Amino acid sequence: MEDSLRRSITEPGSIDPTANDELWCKRVTSIPAFELGQQYQQIGDEIGTAVLEILASGRYIGGAAVESFEQQFAQYIGVSDCIGCNSGTDALYLALRALKVGAGDQVITSAFTFFATAETISAVGAEPVFVDIDPETFNLDLNQIEAAITDRTKAIIPVHLFGQPVDMTRLMQIAQAHQLWVIEDCAQSTGAKWAGQRVGSIGQIGCFSFYPTKNLGACGDGGALTTDDPLLAAQLRKLRDHGQRQRYIYEEIGLNSRLDAIQAMILQIKLRHLDDWNAHRQAIAARYHNWLTPIPGLVLPGGLASGEGVWNQYTIRVTQPWSEGAYRDQVRQKLQQQGIGTAVYYPVPLHRQPVYRGLGYEAGSLPVTELVAEQVISLPMFPELTELQQEQVVYALKEVLTRSA
Ligand SMILES: *Cc1c(COP(=O)(O)O)cnc(C)c1O
Repeated sequence: MEDSLRRSITEPGSIDPTANDELWCKRVTSIPAFELGQQYQQIGDEIGTAVLEILASGRYIGGAAVESFEQQFAQYIGVSDCIGCNSGTDALYLALRALKVGAGDQVITSAFTFFATAETISAVGAEPVFVDIDPETFNLDLNQIEAAITDRTKAIIPVHLFGQPVDMTRLMQIAQAHQLWVIEDCAQSTGAKWAGQRVGSIGQIGCFSFYPTKNLGACGDGGALTTDDPLLAAQLRKLRDHGQRQRYIYEEIGLNSRLDAIQAMILQIKLRHLDDWNAHRQAIAARYHNWLTPIPGLVLPGGLASGEGVWNQYTIRVTQPWSEGAYRDQVRQKLQQQGIGTAVYYPVPLHRQPVYRGLGYEAGSLPVTELVAEQVISLPMFPELTELQQEQVVYALKEVLTRSA
């Protein structure tokens, strides 16, 4: 796309569609918030062949494919051990169990995350304690952690939300000072780094999801745990397999939470592309940042400068002084009318969910989380998103925001 056209898109006052005829004409297809079809075209043959081999082998659970994926993933993250499991949710549950977090304990985490982060804390019998977030990174506000620590606090679960790493240097200092475990929720941040180290290698345990929309996605459910502690690794292996070390001898209550051979094989193939896909996501985020900066009424996500985030989502905030939620939904609806798909992660923060009414968090108790939940829109983000598609997103957003101001 020519420079002159690009300039006209992002210059103030160029919101008349007739002034951008060329771009308008090129708007031939709608742009989804996320899609997997192109990735499948890229590596589908390789995956198909590998899956057929597994099918022919008759070895569907465990075996070489699972072991070699676990080894490769441990090496990629930079830890001694990787333990495959059934999902990111199971990974969090197993991590809490292995660290003996249970009834009477409290675990500090964010309320602006997918439900599983808190759900698993409750599932082991512990209590989630929600701390407010930073409005730019959407991650835990580390300035507020210490005030939330009590005699019952056992662990912190930092969530590297949307692919942005939490400041793990500072978080580990806080955790060590108070002797708390750190379980990293890396479900949205596979491949992200903090100070040159991959997330999932910094806390005691890293938890990963291979749900298809994550940066490294399986063709079904899957998850993994990473740790540098061989004793924890052994405990996690036991818990994911019904609490047995020796077949049919059960030492404790565990789970059936296996990563199956077909998914492990697919993940092994996809892992080779992950850095390349993440680099595309980073380039897309940088382009969004440049093109959206001049548009008034938007707050763009922080964290671009470090170059270490992996942008599972590119999430902007639309700010209006009145009826935040309604305005955001209007903007999304108008974008949808122009064929542009968006998503809202997350519309209702966890401390305000019906299931957690009993914890007693009133409206206004986590003001940043609550404000942000009414303002966020995640724009189309996947490695194959083209520059032209991005220009269409930016142009439409500019038009919608200017007209509804
Ligand atoms: C996806 C996700 C999970 C859960 O992973 P599943 O594989 O879907 O069980 C946990 N935490 C966060 C932040 C997630 O995005």
